[in-house]
Amino acid sequence: MNKKRALLVGRMQPVHKGHLSVIQETLNDVDELIIGIGSAEKSHTPSNPFTGGERVLMLTKALREYDVDPSRYYIIPLEDIACNSLWVSHVKMLTPPFCKVISGNGLVQQLFEEENIPYNEPHLFNREEYSGTEVRNRMLNDEDWESLVPESVVKVIHEIKAVERIKKIHKKEVSELINEKK
Ligand code: NAD
Repeated sequence: MNKKRALLVGRMQPVHKGHLSVIQETLNDVDELIIGIGSAEKSHTPSNPFTGGERVLMLTKALREYDVDPSRYYIIPLEDIACNSLWVSHVKMLTPPFCKVISGNGLVQQLFEEENIPYNEPHLFNREEYSGTEVRNRMLNDEDWESLVPESVVKVIHEIKAVERIKKIHKKEVSELINEKK
């Protein structure tokens, strides 16, 4: 019998507890899950501070922490491409075959729907707090970000000194500060 395999794509900047809840929920319904790390080539910017490799590390450790059977998932970094209309083919070229997509992202849903691939909208898990933007903002402002991500991800973030990185890449040039005051 063919395996029921789904695809979840996420930027995961960084991996947080919402992602883990969606992964666990989806694995109750399918045999295998392909987890595509989106925008894999992006890093060191305020909205994409982590490299593709760092996000693979976070996800691998978090799935182990949550006791997810490693024979049930594939982690695949996916670089962005300039043409949205060709993106689904690009993703299909890089991933094992799948029968549906799990995404709450409207553009992702639209592009797969146009190629006749069905999608499921995941349930929202504490979306106000379990969001990459919220985690990054809290890191920047020295607020509690640790409770929003798995413990293993906290360790990776400390290992790669990511809080310091995020603060550095937000630092403005003196000339920019002077211009802001004008
Ligand atoms: P994300 O990390 O924000 O979210 C990943 C998934 O988890 C989404 O489906 C989101 O709805 C879900 N999620 C997140 N927090 C949740 C919570 N608390 N509860 C429930 N669900 C939650 O990533 P994203 O922005 O959806 O990633 C899409 C990726 O696809 C991006 O990297 C984007 O660049 C890529 N993309 C690329 C192209 C192209 O290259 N042309 C086109 C379309 C999309």
